[in-house]
Amino acid sequence: GFNCGIVGLPNVGKSTLFNALTKSGIDAENFPFCTIEPNTGIVPVPDPRQETLAGIVKPERTIPTTMEFVDIAGLVAGASKGEGLGNQFLANIRETDAIAHVVRCFDNDNVIHVANQVDPTADIETINIELALADLDSVERAITRLARAAKGGDKDAVTTKAILERIQPHLAEGQPLRSFALDSDELSQLKGFGFLTLKPTMYIANVNEDGFDNNPYLDIVRAIAEQEGAVVVPVCNKLESEIAELDDEERGMFLEELGMSEPGLDRVIRAGYDLLGLQTYFTAGVKEVRAWTVKCGATAPQAAGVIHTDFQKGFIRAEVVAYDDFVANNGEQGAKEAGKWRLEGKDYIVKDGDVIHFRFNV
Ligand code: GDP
Repeated sequence: GFNCGIVGLPNVGKSTLFNALTKSGIDAENFPFCTIEPNTGIVPVPDPRQETLAGIVKPERTIPTTMEFVDIAGLVAGASKGEGLGNQFLANIRETDAIAHVVRCFDNDNVIHVANQVDPTADIETINIELALADLDSVERAITRLARAAKGGDKDAVTTKAILERIQPHLAEGQPLRSFALDSDELSQLKGFGFLTLKPTMYIANVNEDGFDNNPYLDIVRAIAEQEGAVVVPVCNKLESEIAELDDEERGMFLEELGMSEPGLDRVIRAGYDLLGLQTYFTAGVKEVRAWTVKCGATAPQAAGVIHTDFQKGFIRAEVVAYDDFVANNGEQGAKEAGKWRLEGKDYIVKDGDVIHFRFNV
């Protein structure tokens, strides 16, 4: 599966968010095939289209697709120099596909801030500097490693080393690589290094219940994110943890009272999903309607492989109905009659919402 690591300074509300995410509904027993580590939460991706499909197909069960969030606690200033459990935390971040950076945007005299004042600019910088310095360390090692080969005339080594030398000063200033202009060739040269500051990143601005408007802290986070081309999701983690405790009925009433159309967590999860460049396709049979996750740009056989590797290996064709056509024609039969049912081959690029039935050899 794809995962998003939750990072941030101590006491910004990471565990509160993580607990809300893990409580918000996945029954571990429904996912016996996943090993769930204590710091990993498997979270259903909210998608109203699934209920609409279920209303048409009337399956025995409906299964959402999921993504993972990993709680990466304890990143502090000095981590890149191995302070605290620094190296371990950086190693954990390295294994994630994307980063959700929680920033404290709430005042609360009872909750001590590590630097004694709420200061989103300084907080973001502190984390970004650690990540940049960790990348700088990788860059310096790589330059040393490549120097010999480059001297020996290895062309690839020469180009890669040149790019690394260009990004080195930027990292040395504590700046993330995502704010350094790199073209697609350069990015693909750097891919293998797994740089932390090139991972897709979003900021979770943790605000108080009344902190969504007229909140100078939130404005600061938005300004920083805009400069970096990053996304901001404002959410009140404390409120979300309360919402996550409720059963479905209570939750509906509580949200209505608050004037919210959905839990804020849903926005966090969807933002994470988008950040990872993921999209959803559906299988819709009488046994189950199920949502599946693929990378945007995945081909039909790759999508089949998400269900089972045998589906990919033995792929013959995909029967496809676009979501809107499926709904407008009240299901597969209607879509067929309306000429909206397609038979697609191995080069077909799956689109978000496609309802697919795979044909394969076993
Ligand atoms: P972590 O160290 O980043 O994991 O932070 P925690 O999730 O443990 O939160 C630290 C403290 O801040 C806890 O006492 C939370 O109840 C409190 N807290 C978290 N989110 C909010 C919030 O949105 N508003 C307020 N007022 N307090 C919060």
